[in-house]
Amino acid sequence: MNPTTRRTFLKQAVTATTTLAGLGLPSRAAERQAAKAALAPRLPWYRRTLRWGQTNITEIDPDRYDIAWWRKHWKRTQTQGVIINAGGIVAYYPSRVPLHHQAQRLGGRDLFGELCRAAHDDGLAVFARMDSNRAHEEFYQAHPDWFAIDMTGKPHRAADLFITCVNGPYYEEHIPAILREIAERYHPEGFTDNSWSGLGRGTICYCENCRKRFRERAGHDIPREKNWNDPAYREWIRWNYDRRLEIWDLNNRVTRAAGGPDCIWAGMNSGSVSGQCQSFRDYKEICRRADIIMLDHQARTDATGFQHNGEAGKLIHGLLGWDKLIPESMAMYQAGGPTFRLASKPEPEARLWMLDGIAGGLQPWWHYIGAYHEDRRMYRTAESVYRWHKDHEEFLINRQPIASVGVVWSQQNTDFFGRDDAEALVELPWRGVMQALIRARIPYLPLHADHIDRDAGQFSLLVLPNVGALSDGQVASVRRFVERGGGLMATGETSLFNEWGDPRPDFALADLLGAHVVDARHASDEARRKKNASDTAHTYLRLSPEKRAQVDGPQTGTEPAIKGERHQVLRGFEETDILPFGGVLGPLRVDAGAQVLATFVPSFPIYPPETAWMREPKTDVPGLILKTTTAGGRVAFLPADLDRRFARNNLPDHGNLLASMIRWAAKDDIPLAVEGAGLIDCHVYRQPGRLILHLVNLTSAAAWRQPIHELIPVGPLQVRVRLPPGVRRSRARFLVSGKEVPTFAKAGWNRFEVKSILDHEVIVIG
Ligand SMILES: [Zn+2]
Repeated sequence: MNPTTRRTFLKQAVTATTTLAGLGLPSRAAERQAAKAALAPRLPWYRRTLRWGQTNITEIDPDRYDIAWWRKHWKRTQTQGVIINAGGIVAYYPSRVPLHHQAQRLGGRDLFGELCRAAHDDGLAVFARMDSNRAHEEFYQAHPDWFAIDMTGKPHRAADLFITCVNGPYYEEHIPAILREIAERYHPEGFTDNSWSGLGRGTICYCENCRKRFRERAGHDIPREKNWNDPAYREWIRWNYDRRLEIWDLNNRVTRAAGGPDCIWAGMNSGSVSGQCQSFRDYKEICRRADIIMLDHQARTDATGFQHNGEAGKLIHGLLGWDKLIPESMAMYQAGGPTFRLASKPEPEARLWMLDGIAGGLQPWWHYIGAYHEDRRMYRTAESVYRWHKDHEEFLINRQPIASVGVVWSQQNTDFFGRDDAEALVELPWRGVMQALIRARIPYLPLHADHIDRDAGQFSLLVLPNVGALSDGQVASVRRFVERGGGLMATGETSLFNEWGDPRPDFALADLLGAHVVDARHASDEARRKKNASDTAHTYLRLSPEKRAQVDGPQTGTEPAIKGERHQVLRGFEETDILPFGGVLGPLRVDAGAQVLATFVPSFPIYPPETAWMREPKTDVPGLILKTTTAGGRVAFLPADLDRRFARNNLPDHGNLLASMIRWAAKDDIPLAVEGAGLIDCHVYRQPGRLILHLVNLTSAAAWRQPIHELIPVGPLQVRVRLPPGVRRSRARFLVSGKEVPTFAKAGWNRFEVKSILDHEVIVIG
């Protein structure tokens, strides 16, 4: 950063303090803010630029980019940093790097330079945006050996562009030359890159550079085809991951050498773990290196909902640390299903995506395609969220999440257990557990399987949603957690495979789960396992013990009455002896001392109705097993894939049973309780001396079908929250409605009421 820019930053920090004081915040907060502002200049730009914006420039924009208008927009939205298209596929400045394609209507204009200067003059940080994974035909003709090719030598193409190979000079010479040119000429604060990681997992490149390098590493040729069971293919996967990390490191060396130690290269990353797998981006390793994560995760899908944004924030912060920033590109245009680049995304839809992301610790980054729009409604969407964000930014960063439930994941599980069916095998079980937690308002944190030992102290319970592939080391971490008295909930095929997805003879956690594989052939029968995961069968779970003689309903007279109290996990199901299931279960050997709470009822006909009776009403195939460990912890094992079923079929029975198991296994050690109707995504944090609670109202007619048309208020909600050590009870301050309400203390809990929430509320205590 040049001295002028640094002065402007300083000026901004002072202005921010004055404004906050002017808003009538308690003087303590203003003082704290002032103290922070005084410290701020010592933080590098990537740690203090909280609100971002991007006008993604099209090739005809050099003709029509109204910089003065956009500067007003930056100001109006309190934007502190901008992402400006610089180079890569298309250059927006007169580049001297050979074959660096100039934007169609650049015509000698230095658009990037003008924008960069304008941003710097306004005190904004600049990320020069690159897009470096393909090139025009002219480039291909000049250097055909720099491009990815198939086995027959044919280049891989995307529309009329040619895809460059990550192992060629394009990445080692051409892109570094561009980075150096931009860094030296324009001094952007850093670089980001839209699609830096090259060809995805779906395609194998057989260019000379790839062949040579792979042979040097592996001692044999690149695999001719995908085969997850082939060690050469697995090696190829790992090699590809390593290569992306090399590119990450190389680009950072180049930009820091040319632009100074803070001139970072940050790439871009996805909010979807399987997206990262498809692109060979090792999230854990990237976060170990990164100073900031630029998150390209623009909109919800119907399957994952707004809540996925809060989840993504927490998952990535879990790897990156909570002291760093994760700006997220948030589409102001109709993105997703379907995409209309030039039409406004309905405001409530864009807004809830932003707010749920902010609740999960993400920073907002508005994103438009093109510099001119006939649908001007999109210009208004970000403003109110950004203004609110600026007014309350001290509560939205540098905070630690509070949760007693850790949900375990790993990228290697998505790769080697999920393979080509990660959606059914990994994502649906994960999503089902997430949704059960959110419905039940149970705060959770995604926990990487390699971080169990590191982070275990804060959790009462680990949930492993069908985490099939676990290494011996990861299994040992889970064991240590349970040996210390921690609770465990596992579903489906958890721990039945090693880190490569190779079957184990029995669950690696069998003794903890209280169940053993009877037929080891099950795990190797990949086709059958996939079919079971994908199909919905007409099957049920029978809850035990049954209470037939005690119920109000027709009696068959043929079955002996079984008396017995239902386990607390089955609370709420008193009026049924069965639950709809949909999956298929095989036999397991259950340890003495473990309790089977549900058994499998095999499939029988649905049609015609005359045939719809249970052929085998009762089996001893376990669907739900509970046990208590010698250390006093509780273990709930759910061989039945109700997590996957819940994500797919949305039956409330499945979500309720999952939540009930989680509460039981956590011994009700949940720091938050929210009562009142609605789908509310809850996130709890602490800062020194205070607690911060986000409640995002996802209740909507369009909760499962985008876009949302209108916001529907919920309330009143009765909230009970356990204050962490160091936080004293105080009135609850509402950062959205501006109200303050009294709180009531009871046995370490703090209770208060939230009258109504339209989109979100953020409550501060302490
Ligand atoms: Zn190649």
